[in-house]
Amino acid sequence: MSPIRVIDYVVIHELAHLEERNHSKKCWNKVKIMLPDYEQYKEWLKENKHLLDI
Ligand SMILES: [Zn+2]
Repeated sequence: MSPIRVIDYVVIHELAHLEERNHSKKCWNKVKIMLPDYEQYKEWLKENKHLLDI
């Protein structure tokens, strides 16, 4: 579990939002195409969000 991959996930997530302005299945599908194992990063962020509060 590398934090670098979490950053990838955040960037890819934002890229997906350029085309999909919501969290529809279509949006998550775009994320999944670019980062097939995105779900573990999504979970990690949910659990460690407080670490990123700056
Ligand atoms: Zn989002």
